[in-house]
Amino acid sequence: MQFGYSDKVIALQQRLDAFMAEHIYPNEARFYQQAEQLGPWKVYPVVEELKVLARAAGLWNLFLPESAHGAGLSNLEYAPLCEIMGRSHLAPEVFNCSAPDTGNMEVLARYGTAEQQQRWLAPLLAGEIRSAFAMTEPLEASSDATNIASLIVRDGDEYVINGRKWYTTGATDPSCKIIIFMGKTDPANPDKYKQQSMVLVPLETKGVKVLRTLPVFGYYGVPDRAAEVHFDQVRVPVTNILLGEGRGFEIAQGRLGPGRIHHCMRLIGLAERVLERMCRRASERRPFGKALSEQTVTLQRIAESRILIEQSRLLTLKAAWLMDTVGNKVAKSEIAMIKVAAPQMACQIIDWAIQAFGGAGTNNDYFLGAAYATARLLRIADGPDEVHRNQIGHIELKRLRDRDPARTGGHAAVLSIEEVEASSASSRWPRP
Ligand SMILES: Cc1cc2nc3c(=O)[nH]c(=O)nc-3n(C[C@H](O)[C@H](O)[C@H](O)COP(=O)(O)OP(=O)(O)OC[C@H]3O[C@@H](n4cnc5c(N)ncnc54)[C@H](O)[C@@H]3O)c2cc1C
Repeated sequence: MQFGYSDKVIALQQRLDAFMAEHIYPNEARFYQQAEQLGPWKVYPVVEELKVLARAAGLWNLFLPESAHGAGLSNLEYAPLCEIMGRSHLAPEVFNCSAPDTGNMEVLARYGTAEQQQRWLAPLLAGEIRSAFAMTEPLEASSDATNIASLIVRDGDEYVINGRKWYTTGATDPSCKIIIFMGKTDPANPDKYKQQSMVLVPLETKGVKVLRTLPVFGYYGVPDRAAEVHFDQVRVPVTNILLGEGRGFEIAQGRLGPGRIHHCMRLIGLAERVLERMCRRASERRPFGKALSEQTVTLQRIAESRILIEQSRLLTLKAAWLMDTVGNKVAKSEIAMIKVAAPQMACQIIDWAIQAFGGAGTNNDYFLGAAYATARLLRIADGPDEVHRNQIGHIELKRLRDRDPARTGGHAAVLSIEEVEASSASSRWPRP
């Protein structure tokens, strides 16, 4: 494993840092104000304004690896850059690197036909439109994606789509023009992983109704434009299918790998920024005659935060490196591990920061409220912690099953009576 940053990455880091200092941090207050005042059904002018500058600066689509469309960075190279963007809720969209668009663009780049790419990927890469991903359903336990029950039924040259989705991030954004919809084309298939398909549904299609916006811990718009969407007798041409019927699961697995690790990269940046704020605040505030930072409990929390961040960063880099070298499938255990570790790390550090800020930690003046909402929702979105832990546990058990116990220091089999008697006979206190 080689985690040193190349000259190319260091140069990009410096340019990103400079852009953040000049354009992102000074505009954050405006961003939160606009989100608060305009709400989740509107475009925020500050984002559009800054997108123009980021694109002109060449800090655009950095997320897309090995592709004619993006910056051609590997996951390992993108990690430290995505981390910088994660320091601010405003930054990812400004650099056209925000969820769910990055995952959707990867799907279109990997699995889309030339026509689908021209129609949808090109404007997404240009930042002219946004996209949504509709998998989760209010009536099904959607952490098990095989439960998804919406139907996609072929009728001549069209698919007819019916279903109710929620937590369809981004659907209330007026720029959102396309939804990647997951549903069943073959509900009777005995292989439950072949029942699902993904279809491109333009948001303006008749029968698509964005029913409502959902708050995330009371926030609307930032950190997430969650929405409930009803698909009622929606008709799209059969050419809107992605990859082919029955291949939805395959795409979901491909999509969620990069999407998940991007969340983790951003969370590391978020945690770094929160820790910086906690340190500054704790150095300035002096309850009971000495700086809060000199109270042992705060010092311990600062140290523990640094340990947690470094652990998460190393695991993220390892997962990214594996994705680049052996592919997302082989890296799935590491991706699952970091998807559990990073949100918990960030939740813990933000929680300590809120405590150190006292009352001020509970409003959004220091963006701790929105930061906590971001970290906490990621213990659920893109698969809850428990589901990832189950996967890690199963992989671990399989790894051990495949190993020869004799070569790895023994096994857990119960000793035979002969072995017990032999060991007793040779012990310090043999059976009389
Ligand atoms: C802010 C936000 C944005 C989101 N964005 C999107 C989006 O853009 N598109 C989209 O399709 N979805 C999105 N989601 C949905 C998210 O991916 C789902 O909420 C998640 O997969 C869990 O599904 P569920 O809500 O149906 O929970 P359920 O499946 O009902 O599970 C509930 C809880 O049960 C527990 N659980 C589940 N399985 C197990 C298990 N095997 N062992 C032990 N415990 C278990 C977990 O604690 C889990 O949280 C978003 C969610 C949030 C909160």
